[in-house]
Amino acid sequence: MTKLKIQVAVIGAGPAGLMAAEVLAQGGADVTVYDAMPSAGRKLLMAGRGGLNLTHSEAFEPFLARYGDAAPALRSAIEAFPPQALRVWAEELGQPTFVGSSGRVFPRAMKSSPLLRAWLRRLDAAGVHFCFRHRWSGWDGAHLTFDTPDGAIAVRSGATVLGLGGASWPRLGSDGTWVAPLTNVGITVAPLKPANSGFEVDWSQHFAKFAGAPLKRIAFNFGERHARGEAIVTAAGLEGGAIYALSGALRTAIETSGKAVPSIALRPDTPVHELERRLSAPRAKQSLSTFLRKSLSLSPAEIGLLQEAAHASGEGLSTLTPAELAALVNAIPICLTGIAPIARAISTAGGIAFDELDARFMLRRREGVFVAGEMLDWDAPTGGYLLQASFATGVAAGQGALAWLQNRMPA
Ligand SMILES: Cc1cc2nc3c(=O)[nH]c(=O)nc-3n(C[C@H](O)[C@H](O)[C@H](O)COP(=O)(O)OP(=O)(O)OC[C@H]3O[C@@H](n4cnc5c(N)ncnc54)[C@H](O)[C@@H]3O)c2cc1C
Repeated sequence: MTKLKIQVAVIGAGPAGLMAAEVLAQGGADVTVYDAMPSAGRKLLMAGRGGLNLTHSEAFEPFLARYGDAAPALRSAIEAFPPQALRVWAEELGQPTFVGSSGRVFPRAMKSSPLLRAWLRRLDAAGVHFCFRHRWSGWDGAHLTFDTPDGAIAVRSGATVLGLGGASWPRLGSDGTWVAPLTNVGITVAPLKPANSGFEVDWSQHFAKFAGAPLKRIAFNFGERHARGEAIVTAAGLEGGAIYALSGALRTAIETSGKAVPSIALRPDTPVHELERRLSAPRAKQSLSTFLRKSLSLSPAEIGLLQEAAHASGEGLSTLTPAELAALVNAIPICLTGIAPIARAISTAGGIAFDELDARFMLRRREGVFVAGEMLDWDAPTGGYLLQASFATGVAAGQGALAWLQNRMPA
């Protein structure tokens, strides 16, 4: 029997691919989602571990500006599926959202699993098929090729959406192995690099014991760039939201000069003259550490950071005057010597160049193949921007594929 519906292959069962699949199925296409992993949305599930930050509530223009150079290329997709639409979509899946004190938007359940479960049920009801353990390996002429547990197979599809993610956390499925099949057909892919990633610091043996300690309500300053939030000391360096926010600029500095030296303000809301006033109080018989802990509420790790910095400059902390110490508390230089591996990064910078796409998110060099999500060359800080762009480009690619298919249908 001839199928009336057009077969569409969506490759990648992350937020971008699943969103494209939903749009295509709603538009009447016969959709099969392929994924290399044994189940869908593994990175989305991981993203929900520490509280799923779906999107952000800030006004549209500042929101869009978070995508930096890629903002113009993402504008149409995010305008068509803005944060508010994502919130409505989540609510329709039984996952109402709320705005946190930072303006970030979370599902009330905080986790991804109820949202993903409800979404997969809805996709199933819409007739979307799933083929797991199918690793896309490229094209053989007009056919898509996959490596499966039963060997290599070739699939013919009317249109294809690629939503293969970046290269961070490869054990969750997105490992960047899609780069070769695309560059082989002449598509420009900017090198995949860690984004929202940690950095390496050569801690002294003494300080390394603070691995795991949080540095709360701090600010990072790097040239004109500033970011507030939290960082975590790791055995090899630093990670966490505040440093992730500067990761693009820090990465570039390390790539060009082998190091980057941002500074940390431990008490960014307290003016240095106030810090100095408190540090000028008589210390009596207290040790310097006790005095710092009591006068500025510094944690042992924060005091350790001050000691690290004083030591690096060849001085002991106890030789500093209250004015010097106060200045150091809000400008501790940290020498970053390397970038943490991409396998530990939250997201990936680089990817398929936007020049390779037309306005429908279709590859110019490969008619009928659309692309969405983190495999495109955009980057953004944490705060819900990563998922928002993944979902929105998924919608755009799905709609682009539908429009392209409709134009090709005989009248
Ligand atoms: C720890 C962590 C926390 C995060 N928290 C947040 C957050 O709170 N808010 C936020 O906005 N973002 C967060 N992110 C980022 C967010 O999860 C990603 O940006 C988003 O998942 C990207 O969606 P995607 O669909 O483009 O790619 P992915 O979610 O990576 O999905 C890609 C899919 O493609 C499949 N695939 C890859 N290659 C192949 C192949 N060759 N053949 C077949 N299948 C393949 C993979 O198995 C995977 O299922 C977090 C990320 C991490 C790692």
